[in-house]
Amino acid sequence: MAGIWVYTEHKDGKVKKVTFEILSEAKKLAEKKGEPLCTVLVGSAVEAMASTVGSYGAQKVYCVESGDLATYTTSGFTKVLCELVKQENPSIVLFGASVNGKDLSARVAGRLGVGLATDCTGIGLDDAGRLQVRRPMFAGKVSADVAFTDATPQMASVRPNVLTASEPDTASKPEVVKVTPTVKPEDSMVSVKEVIQTGGEKVDLTEAEIIVSGGRGMKGPENYNILEELADVLGGVVGASRSAVDAGWRPQSDQVGQSGKVVTPNLYIAAGISGAIQHLAGMGTSKVIVAINKDPEAPIFKKADYGVVDDLFKVVPPLTEEVKKLKSE
Ligand SMILES: Cc1cc2nc3c(=O)[nH]c(=O)nc-3n(C[C@H](O)[C@H](O)[C@H](O)COP(=O)(O)OP(=O)(O)OC[C@H]3O[C@@H](n4cnc5c(N)ncnc54)[C@H](O)[C@@H]3O)c2cc1C
Repeated sequence: MAGIWVYTEHKDGKVKKVTFEILSEAKKLAEKKGEPLCTVLVGSAVEAMASTVGSYGAQKVYCVESGDLATYTTSGFTKVLCELVKQENPSIVLFGASVNGKDLSARVAGRLGVGLATDCTGIGLDDAGRLQVRRPMFAGKVSADVAFTDATPQMASVRPNVLTASEPDTASKPEVVKVTPTVKPEDSMVSVKEVIQTGGEKVDLTEAEIIVSGGRGMKGPENYNILEELADVLGGVVGASRSAVDAGWRPQSDQVGQSGKVVTPNLYIAAGISGAIQHLAGMGTSKVIVAINKDPEAPIFKKADYGVVDDLFKVVPPLTEEVKKLKSE
Protein backbone atom coordinates (compact mmCIF):
# COMPACT_ATOMS: atom_id res chain seq x y z
CA MET A 1 0.00 0.00 0.00
CA ALA A 2 2.99 2.26 -0.52
CA GLY A 3 1.20 4.58 -2.91
CA ILE A 4 1.61 6.22 -6.26
CA TRP A 5 3.03 9.71 -5.88
CA VAL A 6 2.75 12.72 -8.13
CA TYR A 7 5.03 15.67 -7.45
CA THR A 8 2.88 18.82 -7.53
CA GLU A 9 4.38 21.64 -9.52
CA HIS A 10 3.15 25.11 -8.63
CA LYS A 11 3.92 28.74 -9.21
CA ASP A 12 2.59 31.85 -7.46
CA GLY A 13 0.21 29.73 -5.40
CA LYS A 14 -1.30 28.00 -8.42
CA VAL A 15 -0.91 24.35 -9.34
CA LYS A 16 0.42 23.79 -12.85
CA LYS A 17 -1.81 22.05 -15.38
CA VAL A 18 0.66 19.21 -15.96
CA THR A 19 0.06 18.08 -12.35
CA PHE A 20 -3.68 17.75 -13.00
CA GLU A 21 -2.98 15.77 -16.15
CA ILE A 22 -0.68 13.33 -14.37
CA LEU A 23 -2.95 13.01 -11.32
CA SER A 24 -5.93 12.18 -13.56
CA GLU A 25 -4.04 9.36 -15.28
CA ALA A 26 -2.25 8.18 -12.14
CA LYS A 27 -5.64 7.83 -10.42
CA LYS A 28 -6.47 5.02 -12.86
CA LEU A 29 -3.14 3.32 -12.13
CA ALA A 30 -3.68 3.65 -8.37
CA GLU A 31 -7.13 2.07 -8.64
CA LYS A 32 -5.74 -0.78 -10.74
CA LYS A 33 -2.85 -1.33 -8.37
CA GLY A 34 -4.99 -0.98 -5.24
CA GLU A 35 -2.71 1.71 -3.82
CA PRO A 36 -3.51 5.24 -2.65
CA LEU A 37 -2.81 8.19 -4.93
CA CYS A 38 -0.68 10.73 -3.10
CA THR A 39 0.92 14.01 -4.00
CA VAL A 40 3.74 16.08 -2.55
CA LEU A 41 3.61 19.85 -2.25
CA VAL A 42 6.92 21.50 -1.42
CA GLY A 43 7.26 25.23 -0.70
CA SER A 44 6.68 27.89 1.91
CA ALA A 45 2.87 28.14 2.13
CA VAL A 46 1.53 25.25 0.12
CA GLU A 47 -1.29 23.80 2.19
CA ALA A 48 -3.81 26.12 0.53
CA MET A 49 -3.33 24.11 -2.68
CA ALA A 50 -4.11 20.74 -1.04
CA SER A 51 -7.84 20.82 -1.84
CA THR A 52 -7.11 21.65 -5.47
CA VAL A 53 -4.92 18.60 -5.97
CA GLY A 54 -7.43 16.57 -3.98
CA SER A 55 -10.13 17.45 -6.48
CA TYR A 56 -8.05 15.71 -9.17
CA GLY A 57 -7.88 12.46 -7.23
CA ALA A 58 -5.07 12.82 -4.68
CA GLN A 59 -6.19 11.01 -1.54
CA LYS A 60 -3.23 12.04 0.56
CA VAL A 61 -1.31 15.32 0.26
CA TYR A 62 2.11 15.66 1.88
CA CYS A 63 2.71 19.35 2.56
CA VAL A 64 6.42 19.98 3.03
CA GLU A 65 6.55 23.56 4.24
CA SER A 66 9.45 25.78 5.23
CA GLY A 67 10.44 29.39 4.67
CA ASP A 68 13.74 27.99 3.35
CA LEU A 69 11.80 26.33 0.51
CA ALA A 70 10.07 29.51 -0.66
CA THR A 71 12.03 29.48 -3.92
CA TYR A 72 12.87 26.37 -5.90
CA THR A 73 16.44 25.17 -5.64
CA THR A 74 17.53 21.79 -6.95
CA SER A 75 19.53 20.81 -3.87
CA GLY A 76 16.99 21.96 -1.27
CA PHE A 77 13.98 20.35 -2.95
CA THR A 78 15.94 17.15 -3.72
CA LYS A 79 16.91 16.79 -0.07
CA VAL A 80 13.38 17.07 1.32
CA LEU A 81 11.83 14.91 -1.37
CA CYS A 82 14.43 12.14 -1.02
CA GLU A 83 13.98 12.09 2.75
CA LEU A 84 10.21 11.74 2.37
CA VAL A 85 10.47 9.04 -0.30
CA LYS A 86 12.88 7.02 1.87
CA GLN A 87 10.53 7.36 4.83
CA GLU A 88 7.27 6.52 3.03
CA ASN A 89 8.56 4.18 0.30
CA PRO A 90 6.11 4.87 -2.58
CA SER A 91 6.04 2.36 -5.41
CA ILE A 92 5.88 4.97 -8.19
CA VAL A 93 6.84 8.66 -8.31
CA LEU A 94 5.79 10.82 -11.26
CA PHE A 95 6.85 14.33 -12.27
CA GLY A 96 5.93 16.69 -15.09
CA ALA A 97 8.62 16.86 -17.76
CA SER A 98 8.71 20.63 -17.35
CA VAL A 99 11.88 22.63 -16.76
CA ASN A 100 11.62 22.15 -12.98
CA GLY A 101 10.28 18.62 -13.18
CA LYS A 102 13.10 17.45 -15.43
CA ASP A 103 15.67 19.02 -13.16
CA LEU A 104 14.24 17.68 -9.91
CA SER A 105 13.32 14.17 -11.11
CA ALA A 106 16.82 13.53 -12.46
CA ARG A 107 18.47 14.64 -9.22
CA VAL A 108 16.04 12.68 -7.02
CA ALA A 109 16.48 9.50 -9.10
CA GLY A 110 20.25 9.90 -8.97
CA ARG A 111 20.23 10.46 -5.22
CA LEU A 112 17.96 7.43 -4.63
CA GLY A 113 19.91 5.27 -7.07
CA VAL A 114 16.84 4.27 -9.12
CA GLY A 115 15.96 4.48 -12.81
CA LEU A 116 14.05 7.36 -14.39
CA ALA A 117 12.17 7.35 -17.70
CA THR A 118 12.11 10.93 -18.96
CA ASP A 119 9.72 12.93 -21.11
CA CYS A 120 7.12 10.16 -21.37
CA THR A 121 4.05 10.46 -23.57
CA GLY A 122 2.12 7.61 -21.94
CA ILE A 123 2.00 5.86 -18.56
CA GLY A 124 0.50 2.51 -17.60
CA LEU A 125 1.15 -0.70 -15.68
CA ASP A 126 2.50 -4.03 -16.91
CA ASP A 127 0.92 -7.36 -15.97
CA ALA A 128 2.95 -7.47 -12.77
CA GLY A 129 1.70 -4.01 -11.72
CA ARG A 130 5.01 -2.28 -12.44
CA LEU A 131 5.14 1.10 -14.13
CA GLN A 132 5.35 0.93 -17.91
CA VAL A 133 5.81 4.08 -19.96
CA ARG A 134 6.04 5.20 -23.55
CA ARG A 135 8.72 7.69 -24.54
CA PRO A 136 9.78 9.16 -27.87
CA MET A 137 13.36 8.47 -28.93
CA PHE A 138 15.72 9.64 -31.67
CA ALA A 139 14.08 13.06 -31.91
CA GLY A 140 10.62 11.49 -32.06
CA LYS A 141 11.35 9.08 -34.93
CA VAL A 142 10.39 6.07 -32.80
CA SER A 143 8.58 5.47 -29.53
CA ALA A 144 9.80 2.96 -26.97
CA ASP A 145 7.72 1.15 -24.36
CA VAL A 146 9.92 1.11 -21.28
CA ALA A 147 9.48 -1.48 -18.53
CA PHE A 148 10.81 -1.16 -15.00
CA THR A 149 12.48 -3.72 -12.75
CA ASP A 150 11.09 -4.42 -9.28
CA ALA A 151 13.30 -1.73 -7.69
CA THR A 152 11.28 1.08 -6.14
CA PRO A 153 10.34 3.77 -6.53
CA GLN A 154 9.77 3.48 -10.27
CA MET A 155 10.11 7.01 -11.56
CA ALA A 156 9.11 8.88 -14.70
CA SER A 157 8.59 12.41 -15.94
CA VAL A 158 5.59 13.01 -18.20
CA ARG A 159 5.44 15.53 -21.04
CA PRO A 160 2.91 18.35 -20.44
CA ASN A 161 -0.27 18.39 -22.55
CA VAL A 162 -0.19 14.74 -23.64
CA LEU A 163 -2.47 13.35 -20.94
CA THR A 164 -5.99 14.63 -20.43
CA ALA A 165 -6.94 16.17 -17.10
CA SER A 166 -10.30 14.95 -15.81
CA GLU A 167 -12.98 17.25 -14.47
CA PRO A 168 -12.16 18.23 -10.85
CA ASP A 169 -14.38 16.78 -8.14
CA THR A 170 -14.55 19.53 -5.54
CA ALA A 171 -16.42 17.25 -3.12
CA SER A 172 -13.41 15.00 -2.54
CA LYS A 173 -11.35 15.95 0.49
CA PRO A 174 -7.80 14.64 0.71
CA GLU A 175 -5.97 13.72 3.89
CA VAL A 176 -3.35 16.41 4.55
CA VAL A 177 -0.07 15.27 6.09
CA LYS A 178 2.12 18.12 7.31
CA VAL A 179 5.81 17.43 7.04
CA THR A 180 8.38 19.57 8.82
CA PRO A 181 11.50 19.32 6.71
CA THR A 182 14.98 19.30 8.17
CA VAL A 183 16.12 21.75 5.54
CA LYS A 184 18.58 24.49 6.40
CA PRO A 185 19.57 27.46 4.22
CA GLU A 186 22.98 25.83 3.62
CA ASP A 187 21.27 22.74 2.10
CA SER A 188 20.50 24.85 -0.95
CA MET A 189 23.81 25.17 -2.71
CA VAL A 190 22.60 28.33 -4.42
CA SER A 191 20.61 31.23 -3.05
CA VAL A 192 18.07 32.87 -5.32
CA LYS A 193 18.47 36.64 -5.16
CA GLU A 194 15.82 37.66 -7.64
CA VAL A 195 13.34 36.02 -10.01
CA ILE A 196 12.97 37.97 -13.24
CA GLN A 197 9.67 37.24 -14.90
CA THR A 198 9.77 36.98 -18.69
CA GLY A 199 6.78 36.87 -20.99
CA GLY A 200 4.48 38.81 -18.65
CA GLU A 201 1.17 37.10 -18.03
CA LYS A 202 1.53 34.75 -21.02
CA VAL A 203 1.47 31.05 -20.33
CA ASP A 204 4.69 29.15 -20.68
CA LEU A 205 5.23 27.55 -24.11
CA THR A 206 5.27 24.05 -22.60
CA GLU A 207 1.77 24.60 -21.21
CA ALA A 208 0.28 26.54 -24.11
CA GLU A 209 -2.65 25.01 -25.97
CA ILE A 210 -2.00 27.09 -29.08
CA ILE A 211 1.44 28.09 -30.39
CA VAL A 212 2.19 30.22 -33.44
CA SER A 213 5.88 29.78 -34.28
CA GLY A 214 8.06 31.66 -36.71
CA GLY A 215 11.39 30.73 -38.27
CA ARG A 216 13.98 32.22 -40.56
CA GLY A 217 11.22 32.85 -43.10
CA MET A 218 10.03 35.71 -40.88
CA LYS A 219 12.98 37.69 -42.30
CA GLY A 220 13.54 39.79 -39.16
CA PRO A 221 12.38 40.48 -35.59
CA GLU A 222 10.16 43.38 -36.66
CA ASN A 223 7.84 41.00 -38.52
CA TYR A 224 6.92 38.87 -35.51
CA ASN A 225 4.12 41.31 -34.73
CA ILE A 226 1.97 39.50 -37.31
CA LEU A 227 2.47 36.25 -35.39
CA GLU A 228 1.79 38.00 -32.07
CA GLU A 229 -1.51 39.27 -33.47
CA LEU A 230 -2.52 35.82 -34.72
CA ALA A 231 -1.52 34.24 -31.41
CA ASP A 232 -3.49 36.90 -29.52
CA VAL A 233 -6.72 36.33 -31.40
CA LEU A 234 -6.34 32.57 -31.06
CA GLY A 235 -5.50 32.83 -27.36
CA GLY A 236 -2.06 31.34 -27.90
CA VAL A 237 1.61 32.27 -27.55
CA VAL A 238 4.47 32.80 -29.99
CA GLY A 239 7.32 30.32 -30.40
CA ALA A 240 10.37 30.25 -32.66
CA SER A 241 12.83 28.03 -34.45
CA ARG A 242 16.45 27.99 -33.37
CA SER A 243 17.47 29.98 -36.45
CA ALA A 244 15.24 32.83 -35.31
CA VAL A 245 16.65 32.63 -31.78
CA ASP A 246 20.25 32.38 -32.95
CA ALA A 247 19.68 35.44 -35.13
CA GLY A 248 18.62 37.32 -32.00
CA TRP A 249 15.07 37.83 -33.29
CA ARG A 250 13.42 36.02 -30.39
CA PRO A 251 14.47 35.16 -26.81
CA GLN A 252 15.86 31.71 -26.10
CA SER A 253 12.80 30.99 -23.94
CA ASP A 254 10.73 30.96 -27.17
CA GLN A 255 12.79 28.23 -28.84
CA VAL A 256 10.97 25.04 -29.72
CA GLY A 257 12.97 21.92 -30.51
CA GLN A 258 15.61 19.47 -29.43
CA SER A 259 17.73 22.13 -27.75
CA GLY A 260 14.72 24.28 -26.86
CA LYS A 261 11.35 23.42 -25.37
CA VAL A 262 9.32 20.32 -26.09
CA VAL A 263 5.71 21.33 -26.63
CA THR A 264 2.47 19.45 -27.22
CA PRO A 265 -0.20 22.08 -27.91
CA ASN A 266 -3.59 21.35 -29.43
CA LEU A 267 -2.62 23.58 -32.36
CA TYR A 268 0.88 24.38 -33.63
CA ILE A 269 1.20 26.83 -36.51
CA ALA A 270 4.68 26.87 -38.10
CA ALA A 271 5.27 29.91 -40.29
CA GLY A 272 8.48 30.11 -42.32
CA ILE A 273 9.94 27.05 -40.60
CA SER A 274 11.49 24.35 -42.79
CA GLY A 275 10.86 21.47 -40.36
CA ALA A 276 14.39 20.29 -39.55
CA ILE A 277 14.48 17.12 -37.46
CA GLN A 278 15.67 19.11 -34.43
CA HIS A 279 12.62 21.37 -34.68
CA LEU A 280 10.24 18.43 -35.18
CA ALA A 281 11.69 16.84 -32.03
CA GLY A 282 10.14 19.69 -30.06
CA MET A 283 6.69 19.93 -31.64
CA GLY A 284 6.09 16.65 -33.47
CA THR A 285 3.57 15.42 -30.87
CA SER A 286 1.36 18.52 -31.24
CA LYS A 287 -2.23 17.49 -31.81
CA VAL A 288 -2.82 19.54 -34.99
CA ILE A 289 0.05 21.02 -37.02
CA VAL A 290 -0.46 23.74 -39.62
CA ALA A 291 2.51 24.69 -41.82
CA ILE A 292 2.80 27.88 -43.85
CA ASN A 293 5.79 27.78 -46.16
CA LYS A 294 6.43 28.96 -49.70
CA ASP A 295 8.53 25.89 -50.50
CA PRO A 296 6.27 22.90 -51.29
CA GLU A 297 9.22 20.57 -50.65
CA ALA A 298 9.81 21.84 -47.08
CA PRO A 299 9.98 18.82 -44.71
CA ILE A 300 7.47 20.42 -42.34
CA PHE A 301 4.71 19.44 -44.79
CA LYS A 302 5.42 15.74 -44.13
CA LYS A 303 4.51 16.29 -40.49
CA ALA A 304 1.71 18.85 -40.97
CA ASP A 305 -2.00 18.04 -40.82
CA TYR A 306 -2.76 21.15 -42.89
CA GLY A 307 -0.36 22.97 -45.17
CA VAL A 308 -0.45 26.31 -46.97
CA VAL A 309 2.13 26.67 -49.75
CA ASP A 310 2.45 30.43 -50.01
CA ASP A 311 4.23 33.52 -48.78
CA LEU A 312 3.49 33.76 -45.05
CA PHE A 313 3.24 37.55 -45.28
CA LYS A 314 0.27 37.09 -47.60
CA VAL A 315 -1.30 34.32 -45.51
CA VAL A 316 -0.93 35.29 -41.84
CA PRO A 317 -2.59 38.78 -41.73
CA PRO A 318 -5.79 37.67 -43.55
CA LEU A 319 -5.88 34.53 -41.40
CA THR A 320 -5.84 36.75 -38.29
CA GLU A 321 -8.67 38.85 -39.74
CA GLU A 322 -10.73 35.71 -40.49
CA VAL A 323 -10.27 34.41 -36.94
CA LYS A 324 -11.27 37.83 -35.56
CA LYS A 325 -14.42 37.77 -37.72
CA LEU A 326 -15.32 34.24 -36.65
CA LYS A 327 -14.81 35.11 -32.99
CA SER A 328 -16.98 38.21 -33.22
CA GLU A 329 -19.84 36.29 -34.83
C1 LIG B 1 22.39 19.92 -32.11
C2 LIG B 1 21.36 20.76 -32.79
C3 LIG B 1 20.27 21.17 -32.08
C4 LIG B 1 19.30 21.97 -32.68
N1 LIG B 1 18.18 22.34 -31.97
C5 LIG B 1 17.20 23.02 -32.59
C6 LIG B 1 16.02 23.37 -31.88
O1 LIG B 1 15.88 23.13 -30.69
N2 LIG B 1 15.05 24.02 -32.57
C7 LIG B 1 15.16 24.33 -33.89
O2 LIG B 1 14.22 24.93 -34.45
N3 LIG B 1 16.28 24.03 -34.57
C8 LIG B 1 17.31 23.39 -33.95
N4 LIG B 1 18.44 23.12 -34.63
C9 LIG B 1 18.62 23.76 -35.96
C10 LIG B 1 17.93 23.04 -37.09
O3 LIG B 1 18.78 22.05 -37.63
C11 LIG B 1 17.57 24.02 -38.21
O4 LIG B 1 18.74 24.69 -38.63
C12 LIG B 1 16.54 25.08 -37.81
O5 LIG B 1 15.42 24.46 -37.21
C13 LIG B 1 16.07 25.82 -39.06
O6 LIG B 1 15.25 26.87 -38.68
P1 LIG B 1 14.19 27.46 -39.72
O7 LIG B 1 13.27 26.37 -40.14
O8 LIG B 1 13.61 28.67 -39.09
O9 LIG B 1 15.12 27.97 -40.89
P2 LIG B 1 15.32 27.40 -42.33
O10 LIG B 1 15.68 25.96 -42.31
O11 LIG B 1 16.23 28.33 -43.03
O12 LIG B 1 13.88 27.49 -42.99
C14 LIG B 1 13.23 28.68 -43.30
C15 LIG B 1 11.97 28.31 -44.07
O13 LIG B 1 11.22 29.46 -44.30
C16 LIG B 1 10.63 29.35 -45.58
N5 LIG B 1 10.32 30.71 -46.03
C17 LIG B 1 11.19 31.72 -46.31
N6 LIG B 1 10.51 32.84 -46.61
C18 LIG B 1 9.19 32.55 -46.52
C19 LIG B 1 8.00 33.29 -46.73
N7 LIG B 1 8.02 34.57 -47.07
N8 LIG B 1 6.80 32.65 -46.58
C20 LIG B 1 6.76 31.34 -46.25
N9 LIG B 1 7.85 30.59 -46.03
C21 LIG B 1 9.07 31.18 -46.16
C22 LIG B 1 11.66 28.65 -46.43
O14 LIG B 1 11.05 28.01 -47.54
C23 LIG B 1 12.24 27.66 -45.43
O15 LIG B 1 11.58 26.42 -45.50
C24 LIG B 1 19.43 22.33 -34.03
C25 LIG B 1 20.54 21.91 -34.75
C26 LIG B 1 21.50 21.14 -34.15
C27 LIG B 1 22.67 20.67 -34.95
